[in-house]
Amino acid sequence: MNKSTPNFSLEVEGVKGSCPAGEKWAKQNILDKKIPVLSCEGPCIRGDIARLAANTVAKEEPYARCCYAEVSLVPHSSMAQWVREADKIIMIDGCFLKCVGRILKNLVDEGKIVHIDALPLHKKYSDIFIMDDVPETERKEVASQVADKILNMLNERKEPRIMEG
Ligand code: SF4
Repeated sequence: MNKSTPNFSLEVEGVKGSCPAGEKWAKQNILDKKIPVLSCEGPCIRGDIARLAANTVAKEEPYARCCYAEVSLVPHSSMAQWVREADKIIMIDGCFLKCVGRILKNLVDEGKIVHIDALPLHKKYSDIFIMDDVPETERKEVASQVADKILNMLNERKEPRIMEG
């Protein structure tokens, strides 16, 4: 098995239309000048911790939750416009593979991204894949601790492009 992949690109089928709820959400957040918070989203436990932590961070001012898939795959959407035009973007990936951040930095100026690897912030579950193997209450507790660390770092403006615990 190869241990790395060189740069690559994917061909993606075009799409028409838009999600009415997503359009309304993104347009309001553009008007309110909210900072978008994106995450990778499971189903592995590391992705689920990133997702849950992103949900918590996004509840604080001046942040709001953003959909990475719509940003990446529906470029004509207001969700994508929001991220393209934001002065800063919070990107929380679940592990060192940084899957969604690697996409995002091809869509916007990399210097605007605060890219966070959540794994060093909890250092758990290296031998577990599926999130259901960790009880929901524990997942929420760990994600809450990760979100607190991220908010502290953001509040202290300790914002290197890649933040690690
Ligand atoms: S960054 Fe890690 S947790 Fe997130 S999607 Fe990629 S492999 Fe999964």
